[in-house]
Amino acid sequence: VAPPKGKPKWLRVKLPVGKKYKELRGVVDKYELHTICTSGSCPNMGECWTEGTATFMILGNVCTRSCGFCGVKTGRPEDVDWAEPEKVARSIKLMGIKHAVITSVDRDDLKDMGSIIWKETVAAIRRMNPETTLETLIPDFQGNTRNIDRIVEANPEVVSHNMETVKRLTREVRIQAKYERSLEVLHYLKEQGINRTKSGIMLGLGEREDEVIETLHDLRKNDVDVVTLGQYLQPSKRHLPVQEFINPDQFKKYEVIGKDLGFRHVESGALVRSSYKAHKHIL
Ligand code: SF4
Ligand code: SF4
Repeated sequence: VAPPKGKPKWLRVKLPVGKKYKELRGVVDKYELHTICTSGSCPNMGECWTEGTATFMILGNVCTRSCGFCGVKTGRPEDVDWAEPEKVARSIKLMGIKHAVITSVDRDDLKDMGSIIWKETVAAIRRMNPETTLETLIPDFQGNTRNIDRIVEANPEVVSHNMETVKRLTREVRIQAKYERSLEVLHYLKEQGINRTKSGIMLGLGEREDEVIETLHDLRKNDVDVVTLGQYLQPSKRHLPVQEFINPDQFKKYEVIGKDLGFRHVESGALVRSSYKAHKHIL
């Protein structure tokens, strides 16, 4: 099947404007921070930043993995910046962020896979911004529980780990990851007492409806509380092509199915990203 041409109208959004947006953009640029919002050219920037939500990417902007959908550079990452936790925490304060989502590149090159910086980042944010709530969107840490425990000890309000796609397409979409291992990570987090666990799937990569429903079932079986479903968009010609633009009605259908399965929150829509409306997911 030839990939569809041109974005449908429900995917066209206005560029972010407004005073709050400009203010936040200024801080991000000044501190040379990496946000998924800007580096992923997220279509929701105007909305999220105005509401005081942003997603910071820690541990550099070069990833040791090479997922076929992801716009982050692959290669040998730079040395760890031990001042990063303080920088992120200070920026959150300056930006007046009410709910911060922290994510990272995968650091399979490090012995602790970056988990120590993760823990210190959460601690620094808590210290400097006691009112700010946090979601940590973590890598699989290759399933290493010692590393995952550092996240659990930091005790963020929400811990998320994205499945990204259905079982059959996992190899193609996230070559170094495993579907079952990701489920195990989510299961382990819940077992360790994390209050809210969350995961996300992108649609339009060639998955079938029954496969999406299977993934939703698998997440619920592992007590995941929140799920997000959004349209995959190709970051560049080198990335996996979009196989299909999913119709808004189909997103609605998944939302109803998800709610019936017992998720506390289901965000399902073309423009939904894993951190979209993330501030609501702590409720
Ligand atoms: Fe940033 Fe996530 Fe909002 Fe996009 S959806 S602007 S990445 S917080
Ligand atoms: Fe992108 Fe994460 Fe995959 Fe790295 S592990 S390529 S940051 S999706």
